[in-house]
Amino acid sequence: MGDTTATALARHVSVSLKSRGFQAYLIGGCVRDQLLGREPEDYDIATDAHPDQVRALYPAANLVGAHFGVVLVREGGAEVEVATFRSDHAYADGRRPESVSFETDPRQDVLRRDFTINALLMDPESSEITDFVGGRADLDRGLIRAIGDPERRFAEDHLRMLRAVRFAARFGFTIEAATIAAIQQLHSSILRVSAERIRMELTRILTERGARRGFELLDETGLLSDLLPEVAAMKGVEQPPQYHPEGDVWTHTLMMLEGLLSPTPPLAWGVLLHDVGKPGTFRRAPDRIRFDGHVELGVEIASGILRRLRFSNADCEQVIALIAQHMRFKDVPMMKNSTLKRMLRLEHFDEHLELHRLDCANSNGHLETYEFLREKATEIPANELKPPRLLSGEDLMGQGYKPGPQFRAILSAIEDAQLEGAIHDREEALEFVRAHFGEP
Ligand code: ATP
Ligand code: MG
Repeated sequence: MGDTTATALARHVSVSLKSRGFQAYLIGGCVRDQLLGREPEDYDIATDAHPDQVRALYPAANLVGAHFGVVLVREGGAEVEVATFRSDHAYADGRRPESVSFETDPRQDVLRRDFTINALLMDPESSEITDFVGGRADLDRGLIRAIGDPERRFAEDHLRMLRAVRFAARFGFTIEAATIAAIQQLHSSILRVSAERIRMELTRILTERGARRGFELLDETGLLSDLLPEVAAMKGVEQPPQYHPEGDVWTHTLMMLEGLLSPTPPLAWGVLLHDVGKPGTFRRAPDRIRFDGHVELGVEIASGILRRLRFSNADCEQVIALIAQHMRFKDVPMMKNSTLKRMLRLEHFDEHLELHRLDCANSNGHLETYEFLREKATEIPANELKPPRLLSGEDLMGQGYKPGPQFRAILSAIEDAQLEGAIHDREEALEFVRAHFGEP
């Protein structure tokens, strides 16, 4: 959705509402983002018009939140959410208000919102700002401040604690003293929020650029030990200085998070969890600190975390693959061609490679393997990475071989030889089978 079309639509909606005697303001994230010089993701309008009055103006519009009075207006690829001023009441479940009332005073609509920087109103025509809560000053000072009494606001809706961290991380802001104190007080109630909501917030913290700061704040507030105790356990876990001059496992992981540019969610989670098996395998061996088996344990621990946070199977598999493969990169210089090609064939190999780059850049600094693989990945054509199969199981049976568990080994050995460049066609493949696995 282009910025200009959405702004134009927002202006249009606001003009039509006002010409009928209603109030209309841009509100929330889109005002904040414009004042920060960022392109807003979506545009929200707040009005005293009731949802049916909005729909009278835009009959094609969708009622998306009947209960909350939100109407989605779409035109020419642009989209604007028009919400009736409201106040929220009685948060019994720590997540959603049980009842809402429509209001005519925009101040009421501002007071139900989470943070002062998310509660600014803007006239879409004149760009004039209306600020009931000091959001403008907080935006200038870089402060995330709860509106009203922070403890009460976080007790109403526990997810706001994670939102505070997310906005602070994304914008590089500070969480204001009373606001962070309230989170430090109430952090463990975050466990009453659904796994899906928690996963979505954590993923956004990980992927919106401020991941390191986000995880430092999760730690500082106590939220980290509630949500990811396995990650909190990385703190203070020493590493051998010759391989990890940067410090302990937590520091190493934070540095990698800091290096994430615009990661996919699986890559970001893979980075966060790649060494999650280290705390449980730490050992002072005679020669140095060792973490034997940390990959296997890491895979097990990460599977538990991903299941708990209800990740999709596809994301889960990719995160696990990133963890499982990350130590294989040290073997690359000694790898047979066939093994190397199979590695380059890994699904989303670019993510494996990027995790490896971050791992090295934030420890020993050796990037030779990374450079080598990056070259190979562009150099080797796809049909050499995955050449057409020379023989099938049926071909083997046709030759008189008895089907059985050995077939897999034979077929895989044929492919290896092919990837090594030792055999090139069906005849050579059959000869290879006879030489290595005997006559049928
Ligand atoms: P983003 O850029 O991440 O979308 P946003 O500020 O637009 O940020 P949304 O989640 O889209 O955030 O919500 C829109 C607005 O609704 C917020 O700016 C805020 O005013 C209000 N809001 C959203 N979630 C809450 C909440 N849990 N409690 C109170 N107000 C909220
Ligand atoms: Mg938004």
